[in-house]
Amino acid sequence: MERNGEYDIIGWFDEVAETADSVQTQTLSQILRLNYGVEYLKKWFRDINIQEMEENALESLFTSLVPLASHADLEHYIQRIADGDDAPLLTQEAITNLSLSSGTTEGRQKFVPFTRHSSKTTLQIFKLAAAYRSRIYPIREGGRILELIYSSKQFKTKGGLTVGTATTHYYASEEFKIKQEQTKSFTCSPEAVISSGDYNQSTYCHLLLGLHFRDEVEFITSTFAYSIVQAFRSFEELWREICDDIREGSLSSRITITKVRNAVLDIISPNPCLASRIASTCEELEEKDWFCMIPKLWPNAKYVYSIMTGSMQPYLRKLRHYAGNLPLVSADYGSTESWIGVNVDPSSPPEKVTFAVMPNFSYFEFIPLHRQSQQNSNSNTDDFIEEDPVPLSQVKLGQEYEIVLTTFTGLYRYRLGDVVEVAGFHKKIPKLNFICRRKLILTVNIDKNTEKDLQLVVERGSQALSKSKAELVDFTSHADAAKQPGHYVIYWEINGEVEERVLRECCREMDASFVDHGYVVSRRTNSIGPLELCIVEKGTFKKILEHFIRNGAALSQFKIPRCTSNQVLLKILDASTIKRFRSTAYGQEL
Ligand code: AMP
Repeated sequence: MERNGEYDIIGWFDEVAETADSVQTQTLSQILRLNYGVEYLKKWFRDINIQEMEENALESLFTSLVPLASHADLEHYIQRIADGDDAPLLTQEAITNLSLSSGTTEGRQKFVPFTRHSSKTTLQIFKLAAAYRSRIYPIREGGRILELIYSSKQFKTKGGLTVGTATTHYYASEEFKIKQEQTKSFTCSPEAVISSGDYNQSTYCHLLLGLHFRDEVEFITSTFAYSIVQAFRSFEELWREICDDIREGSLSSRITITKVRNAVLDIISPNPCLASRIASTCEELEEKDWFCMIPKLWPNAKYVYSIMTGSMQPYLRKLRHYAGNLPLVSADYGSTESWIGVNVDPSSPPEKVTFAVMPNFSYFEFIPLHRQSQQNSNSNTDDFIEEDPVPLSQVKLGQEYEIVLTTFTGLYRYRLGDVVEVAGFHKKIPKLNFICRRKLILTVNIDKNTEKDLQLVVERGSQALSKSKAELVDFTSHADAAKQPGHYVIYWEINGEVEERVLRECCREMDASFVDHGYVVSRRTNSIGPLELCIVEKGTFKKILEHFIRNGAALSQFKIPRCTSNQVLLKILDASTIKRFRSTAYGQEL
């Protein structure tokens, strides 16, 4: 679609949105026709020839014959692909790349097929989101983006397929280069920095180059907000060294990778004037605990852009501290399996953001979920009763759903495990509010708590910290059922000094803040023991990050697991615990 000689991507999306129902039917029929005859589909379609079938009939047939699936149902096929079986198992197109989902939410990493379609949709959603953003926050063409992005290590499977995170495949793709050219904004760091494989060295260089190009930087971004906070926390320690490098046109000896050194040294040259301006700004910022760091250091930046919803919400407070009055724009909703929705209202605050589903990317179904009344809930799975999945055209405002995906990359009726709520519509497209991962994380008895429940409890419990001028850096938890009665352990890393009396109060407050009926009843009858708050020493969560990175995770897609039973992590956490509190007097005011 053209407007004033330029491709009008918003106009295109509006048209798609008007006809979302038929776009979904067509998308499904395209996926099934392209992959006609693959082993997985043959199992359900047997000898039915779908090639000539009318699209609506095919949609009904598909949902009646093919069952809902989880990753475990497909694992065997994906493993065969990884081992080099080149028969068409899930797709007719040969799969040459596998993505590693971050796995930090599920506890272990999963392989998911990645094809050219995956990079193309990434490019398309990035361009669409950029067009929406520039309506409200226009940026200068030819400007720069400080992109705090990182590729993971890539490796080959037995069958010769390349494995890496989805973002890693994208940064290595043609589409990533096209995005920079077509959106006329360029990342500050060269490819060698993004793919260095050492996130500490990449972060240093991203920050150094971001400051080298400071006047050209139009916005600051990362995939998940965690990496922005992580990078600026490092900056608080590194700024003097970075200023030295800007002054001398040199590069710190902490950068040891030759191709990174060469790539950065090719760009920078001595700039004493810039170095002293930055140094004096940093001295002032240090006095004010780095409040407003981003606009002070990047005076032309228009906004900060990143995923700030879901498990990233706990980092918002710190991000706001660094960003001051600069708008925080929440980035789109996606997963390793497929992109899901675009933020069409970039000015809405991260707490209220919704995502308009991309109906031409995958075929979406929605499992209606109803929360069981807490008293009646006796299943040991979760708190939801589910109905049969409905297509996109039948979702209802205010209803919660679990998302099911059928993708061009060979996933058929795949349960993503995310719970969303329909919060509105963009023409005929639902706008989704991300609620939580469906999986329970804390459960020792009849109690059922999700990541979101824990997040709310920690938010309440940590309110008292701000009075002590301390902040919660990060947190995780463990459902300890080793001794009877089982109990919850919550680990906090804190910045600042807090009196023991206050921490004891935080612990009691968290115990009292779980509203889940199972927890409340179990605590009253002491079939769940008092909650334990463990304060870990500074740097513990960085150690956890490093553990995951060593095992193939990438900083770009990293999410701290909010609950863990992983023995290595528990060992790190327990060895780093410097104070322990047990809540007492449950259900009574102290
Ligand atoms: P992964 O595939 O492991 O990188 O992570 C994908 C998961 O991250 C999704 O299934 C969501 O649970 C979460 N996620 C991705 N984008 C968003 C978003 N914009 N808001 C909230 N959660 C998100």
